[in-house]
Amino acid sequence: MQLRVPGPTPCPPQALEAQGKEMINHRGEEFRKLILDITWSLKQMFQTQDDVLILTASGTGGLEAAIVNTLSPGDKVLALSIGAFGDRFSDIAHNFGAEVEKLDFEWGRAAHPEVVEKRLKDDSRIKAVMVTHNETSTGVTNDLEAISRVAKEYDKLLLVDAVSSLSCIDLPVDLWGCDVVVTASQKGWMSPPGLAMVSISERGWKAVSEAQMPRYYWDLSRARSFLEKGQTPWTPAISTLYALYSTLKLMEGEGLANIIKRHVRVGDRARMRIEELGLSLFPKEAYSNTVTAVNIPSDVDSRKLLTTMRRKYNIVLAGGQQRLSGKIFRIGHMGWVGEEDIDQIIVALKKALPESKR
Ligand SMILES: *Cc1c(COP(=O)(O)O)cnc(C)c1O
Repeated sequence: MQLRVPGPTPCPPQALEAQGKEMINHRGEEFRKLILDITWSLKQMFQTQDDVLILTASGTGGLEAAIVNTLSPGDKVLALSIGAFGDRFSDIAHNFGAEVEKLDFEWGRAAHPEVVEKRLKDDSRIKAVMVTHNETSTGVTNDLEAISRVAKEYDKLLLVDAVSSLSCIDLPVDLWGCDVVVTASQKGWMSPPGLAMVSISERGWKAVSEAQMPRYYWDLSRARSFLEKGQTPWTPAISTLYALYSTLKLMEGEGLANIIKRHVRVGDRARMRIEELGLSLFPKEAYSNTVTAVNIPSDVDSRKLLTTMRRKYNIVLAGGQQRLSGKIFRIGHMGWVGEEDIDQIIVALKKALPESKR
């Protein structure tokens, strides 16, 4: 079975083998070496000298950590949303008592930095900007470089959901001045679910020292002080750490620049071949190199198509989320993926489409 949803992603055999190893004491020397090695490697992939902390969580736990550690109830935040994950990030801030101004852009388009700039210029109360780097629900990648430039120009804290981009799409955390950046093991990192990885800048730590939102499990200060001892505050997902260690080695072998280039090639190929099939892409701009969203033709039944692809051709694709349910399907192509995987999907789609008419 080819798993081509945008997370969890396929794991290479090295990762599957690694995660089957026996447990170790997470307060012992062997674990200390493991977590320090992984943290060092993660910093290379985040392109940062800042702290990177590993939480036992899915990506959403990392997003919650970003918010509750840096904000206080009543803080005004500007939440940019171009899809379901932007909405989720915004909802978390709202639920913890932030005053959220949501800046929605049409699904299928990217956030416009000049609109962001106007809001920041007009409202000095805004403390933080929240943004999704790669919107997995629509297959759009925001221009994070431009957005971060605006956020820095107005001296705002910048919180980034990079769950489906980091390690696949270029994101130089330090260069762009991103204060908190969140990703998760089951996306481009080719590992099983279980870990969220969060970078935090010096400016981020300053916000942490003032932030009043309630937190316990997600306390990043505590995570940092335990990491100094080579530990985590709570029992970590040791098996997923084993897997991540093995995939980081693979990634170091290939090199980050090459990984990013491979995702550009794979994304280009997916878009080109989808259009060759006579299908149209859902996004209108800023196409993602980790997930391709495709409009379902009006004479095709979306559920039939996904079922046929899975049962007959052994390929698992994703449907649309929320308002896009039944309207699009999505191909995840992040992490352990090459152009030949795209070709296989296209061959199957070509047969499955006429077999899935309404
Ligand atoms: C997958 C994903 C998340 C996190 O989802 P979890 O199921 O909590 O891991 C968050 N944001 C984006 C953009 C994602 O693609």
